[in-house]
Amino acid sequence: MRILVVEDEPGISGFLKQGLEEESYHVDIAENGQTGLQMSLSGVYDLLLLDWMLPVISGLELCIDFRKQFPNTPVIFLTAKDTVEETITGLQSGANDYIKKPFHFEELLERIRVQLRARDISEEKYTLGPITLYTGRHLVLRGEEEVQLTQKEFALLEYLMKNKNQVCRRTQIIEKVWDIHFDYNTGVIDVFMNSLRKKLNFNTNEDYIQTVRGIGYVAKDL
Ligand code: CA
Repeated sequence: MRILVVEDEPGISGFLKQGLEEESYHVDIAENGQTGLQMSLSGVYDLLLLDWMLPVISGLELCIDFRKQFPNTPVIFLTAKDTVEETITGLQSGANDYIKKPFHFEELLERIRVQLRARDISEEKYTLGPITLYTGRHLVLRGEEEVQLTQKEFALLEYLMKNKNQVCRRTQIIEKVWDIHFDYNTGVIDVFMNSLRKKLNFNTNEDYIQTVRGIGYVAKDL
């Protein structure tokens, strides 16, 4: 699970990063609203934790812009703005939850879990040719038959199907599916892609998942 923390006070962001990483979340930090917005729009995050008062672009503006593109990714405000009016404005901007500073880390953690659970329960279904994928149940069918995939293969297929007809860059895939930044030229994606195509009974390159040479992959209905 990958969380983006947009917070301009290093003491708070450092504390959040350390605490959340101890809970096995992968955490990236943006120190102003503009960087935060750019990072959030990469689509690699499972949840956003937003301060409101930020340099360049406020957390509120960030939330509104982010929501236009990602209606289902949970957003939690973590802010010193504590009036009822501000809370309502924050929630109306599309945030899922609103926590006032100072906060208790254990409560924040529980609220993050609630949001991620709610997201998982809201089952989504995607199709690609003969393949149907259900996100909540982690189920993949080819016609009526279940296809057994590893977690990484499932995550890879889910990412490609969610972005159907768009070229997915190798760097985006690696960040989303593997939760890490590493060398662009690594062959790890190709290895998983070959195995995935085999399990889905797709022929290499010319089928529903096509290789875009030098860039990445694209999932397409034929
Ligand atoms: Ca601030």
